Amino acid sequence: MKRLTDRLVQCDCCPRRCGVNRLEGQLGFCRVGSGIQISHAGLHFGEEPPLSGTQGSGTIFFAGCNLRCVFCQNYQISQEFQTVPTWLLSTDELAGVMLQLQDEGAHNINFVSPSHMAFQMADAITAAKGRGLVIPVVYNSNGYDSLEVLGLVRGLVDIYLPDLKYLDNELGKRFSAVDDYAEIVPGVLAEMLDQVGHLQTDEQGVATRGLLVRHLVLPGHLDNSRRCLDLLAGMSRHIFVSVMSQYSPQYKAREHAGINRTLTAAEYAEITDYALDLGLENAFVQELASHQHYLPDFEQDQPFAPSPKKSPGRKAVRHKKSSGI
Ligand code: SF4
Repeated sequence: MKRLTDRLVQCDCCPRRCGVNRLEGQLGFCRVGSGIQISHAGLHFGEEPPLSGTQGSGTIFFAGCNLRCVFCQNYQISQEFQTVPTWLLSTDELAGVMLQLQDEGAHNINFVSPSHMAFQMADAITAAKGRGLVIPVVYNSNGYDSLEVLGLVRGLVDIYLPDLKYLDNELGKRFSAVDDYAEIVPGVLAEMLDQVGHLQTDEQGVATRGLLVRHLVLPGHLDNSRRCLDLLAGMSRHIFVSVMSQYSPQYKAREHAGINRTLTAAEYAEITDYALDLGLENAFVQELASHQHYLPDFEQDQPFAPSPKKSPGRKAVRHKKSSGI
């Protein structure tokens, strides 16, 4: 049977379309070969409530990334993954990890940073489904995805969880080493919405299918946030959006004037109010101090701080001004 992984012979897995032969060890922008390289797998309780639920989201973190965000809080595994422990898995071994997470009670399988690993991911999902995987699969990406590849994984992914980082290519160039993010991401979001629709939950409030878009508000760049929210409201006022306040100047961000600080309460309130004024009724917000809770350390066996079996600091608001949150 033809495997999607075979397409790595001339890699067009993401919009960079490097064309390198990853099967023969050539590396493109993401610097990841054809092997399935993961840096962490385990139950995670820090996602939005419909994803973490009470039993946790079954996260599988891929090593590497097709962006180079200067503020990446996962930089140890996205950009410096050669210096931290990672594991190389076969397709069947990755399917086994998925089934183990299902056995541990995970509400879903949550692939983190899959944009450069989508072919290998798709083959492993197919294998896992053949061996009894029944929980939803989450595609948790930075939004810089190939439309063609998303079409190829249609039916294998139940929940899309993309970032909407910028609608300003200058910001993409400066902060993520990408020239055309603002051109790519609107089509990606439209394709994802077309495939899975709006977020649906079961009677316990746990997500079963649909789209949830994340937007991280950057300090001093509120125009970009307004543009992003305008796009989402134009797509549908029912779209689910997580407006994230957890930015902190990680990795190389302290070298960049303007983003070398955390967000102020006033900035975050301005953007959450803007979202609500647009009529985006399905918004999740965070408590402002929550960035400390979300910072992982992938040099530890347990990269995430112990947390209660719920998602602290996030809640849904409906038609409510931030002053009342
Ligand atoms: S997945 Fe990696 S090698 Fe393939 S096109 Fe994207 S950046 Fe290039």
